[in-house]
Amino acid sequence: MHKLGWIGLGHMGAPMAMNLLQAGYEVNVYNRSHEKTRGLVEKGAKQLNSSKEVVDQSDIIFIMLSDSNAVNNVLMLENGVLEAQTAGKVVINMSTISPEDALKFAGIISENGGQYLDAPVSGSVGAAMSGQLVILTGGDIQTLEEYKPYFDILGKSSIHFGTVGKGSSAKLAINMLLGIMGQGIAEALVFADKAGLDKEDVLALISQSGMNSPLFQAKKEMYRNEEFPSAFMLELMTKDLGLVKEAADLLGTTLPLAEVANETFISAEKNGKAKLDMAAIYLEIKDRITK
Ligand code: NAP
Repeated sequence: MHKLGWIGLGHMGAPMAMNLLQAGYEVNVYNRSHEKTRGLVEKGAKQLNSSKEVVDQSDIIFIMLSDSNAVNNVLMLENGVLEAQTAGKVVINMSTISPEDALKFAGIISENGGQYLDAPVSGSVGAAMSGQLVILTGGDIQTLEEYKPYFDILGKSSIHFGTVGKGSSAKLAINMLLGIMGQGIAEALVFADKAGLDKEDVLALISQSGMNSPLFQAKKEMYRNEEFPSAFMLELMTKDLGLVKEAADLLGTTLPLAEVANETFISAEKNGKAKLDMAAIYLEIKDRITK
């Protein structure tokens, strides 16, 4: 049986690592803030003191961090992945980063004798907890097939998009849609409110319409109560829309709705909503329209 390593135990990483642990695998864990390992250690995970130790003691290393900067630090800094024995090991990066950075990291890992796969995910904390994520993979298909049992624990399906970086491109496509839908729902709710419609009636209308979605249902209580505790932090949505813009520029294409959503999320972040859930874009739109 492979020994599994997990680096990054935030909103997503912790429940994902927990699912592997509860499926009976040995899981070595490391997180920059050590206290986040507690729940996993109580269930039998082995807490290690650095990313280097995780790689040295594991065969397959999953990484689930905020962004490229965090992945870069975990790879390059003292006691990082590259100080370990990476030869023969497989690093599976599930963080959302740009396709270019995925290729860069794959090159670095392969120069050190290891293998890199990109496997970002679609679905939020609820799906991470229930093992219902959709995993978007890029990299060697045979290795990915071999590791399918792990992906089957973490998600309800895996889609292979091609070589390393293609999983990340797919992730940017789906999160661009998420950002646009987030702004669309917020505008519909704020417009309905301004037009004097009862909020409960409007929530019921969307729920019963063709525009109902798992996304809307997951965020409905937030809109109802106007409280936005984070499942997917708004600042991560801003990061992803920024990556979409960069990727679109490189491809020489223009994405009008994604650009508008990007600007709205940037402004929400500047106005103090960075650590709220991405659905707090509703508050940003509401503040603007009220002014
Ligand atoms: P999160 O809760 O903010 O966790 C971020 C993780 O990255 C934490 O383990 C954090 O460590 C670590 N980290 C951040 N900067 C670091 C650095 N410089 N060095 C080392 N570690 C660092 O984020 P999340 O919601 O789990 O998201 C993780 C990834 O999944 C992101 O790429 C996000 O875009 C993507 N994603 C999120 C969702 C969602 O709904 N939340 C859904 C799909 C995809 P500390 O604990 O020490 O801060």
